[in-house]
Amino acid sequence: MASHTRHALHQLRIEVNRDPERFVTEVYTRMFAIDPDLRDLFGVSMAAQHEAFHRVIDHVLEAIPAATGHTELVELLAQLGRDHRKYGVEPEHYHIMYSALMGEFAELMAEYWDSETQQTISQAMMLVTGVMRGAAETATDPARWTAEVVEKYRITRDLAVVRLIAHSPLRFRPGQYLEVQVPQWPKVWRNLSSSIPPNPAGELEFHVRAVKGGTVSSAIVGDTRVGDVWTFAQSHGTLHVDRDRKVLMVAGGTGLAPLRALLIEMSKRVDNPPTHIFYGTRHPGELYDLAVLRRIASTNPWLQVTAVSEHEHDPWWINSVATPEELGIEHHIGTLADVVPRAGNWEDHQVLVAGSPQMIETTRRKLIIAGVRASRIQHDPVF
Ligand SMILES: Cc1cc2nc3c(=O)[nH]c(=O)nc-3n(C[C@H](O)[C@H](O)[C@H](O)COP(=O)(O)OP(=O)(O)OC[C@H]3O[C@@H](n4cnc5c(N)ncnc54)[C@H](O)[C@@H]3O)c2cc1C
Repeated sequence: MASHTRHALHQLRIEVNRDPERFVTEVYTRMFAIDPDLRDLFGVSMAAQHEAFHRVIDHVLEAIPAATGHTELVELLAQLGRDHRKYGVEPEHYHIMYSALMGEFAELMAEYWDSETQQTISQAMMLVTGVMRGAAETATDPARWTAEVVEKYRITRDLAVVRLIAHSPLRFRPGQYLEVQVPQWPKVWRNLSSSIPPNPAGELEFHVRAVKGGTVSSAIVGDTRVGDVWTFAQSHGTLHVDRDRKVLMVAGGTGLAPLRALLIEMSKRVDNPPTHIFYGTRHPGELYDLAVLRRIASTNPWLQVTAVSEHEHDPWWINSVATPEELGIEHHIGTLADVVPRAGNWEDHQVLVAGSPQMIETTRRKLIIAGVRASRIQHDPVF
């Protein structure tokens, strides 16, 4: 790559990163000025959108001049193009995005903006918008699909299970998460992991915890009703089990969902690798799905279940489910990150970790310190 190209993109990245929020706001303002109807595609709050947009542009400006990684960049842009269909983004909108970006870049680069720089940056942005648009146009799966809530029940004051029946065939793999929009928060998308594998009946099940101050999760736990129609978009995630290596699963709270889906899928076969799941919550009474895990283990000798809770006893407000002791399941006190590395030698295992971003990060770090190769640890992206 010519040194001028490298230099122009490098300089542009510096200018963008001087004030990312201002840059993104200006680009969106330019887009909405070209086509005011575009604003309607997005939710009221665009904070997450702004952050993601800046992350992508920053990554593009870093990745294009780099010596390697171009295939991954194209894959990422194609995925973004497919994902953006859920907002109602149409192929012609990509030209608006290109024009808005070029207008803002010209202003940011002021003194560096000569015809050579303009051409270089134009080519880079044509690549970005062209790949996204092409992927969106050639995608064969539907941009959105719907399912109806048929059952919802609360497990604790901040945890609910929601069951739905899809209106069209399911197209995701066990262990994946789905982009979801609920009627209480139109145009706002969140990720939820399916806790059961896809099936011909179109049944879906989600375990949702209302996070403190959380908009969508609180609405699901508090307000979701039978008959609500949820909208879904793409499925993502690569959690999987290789058949040639012992398995360690570490599930924190509702992080159990994708691992539970994999276990249910595995239980259809007899020749699974030995699998040990540690399921942890803050209080023992929050281990709501322990009975289901015990049921799977009772007919699948390859599965071992261990319960973990940070506290030994429940506070008064938890209506306790059956305790690990009552279910005959080994119970450790502590955090998953502390308990799991000490509970065995996991060096020759494939490891799947699911839970809150903080739980994933600490558990991963402590397992690596305990000798597990980083490349053998899988988890979903941490946002
Ligand atoms: C791959 C993936 C799979 C997921 N699967 C599930 C699932 O199966 N079940 C489920 O309940 N949730 C799941 N989540 C989390 C979910 O997507 C939402 O992020 C979460 O429900 C909060 O959304 P909200 O709109 O209520 O909060 P927001 O309104 O977006 O945020 C409000 C506040 O909560 C904080 N917050 C956001 N997310 C979390 C979190 N996970 N833990 C603690 N604090 C948080 C924010 O920092 C902010 O301060 C998953 C997330 C990812 C990335």
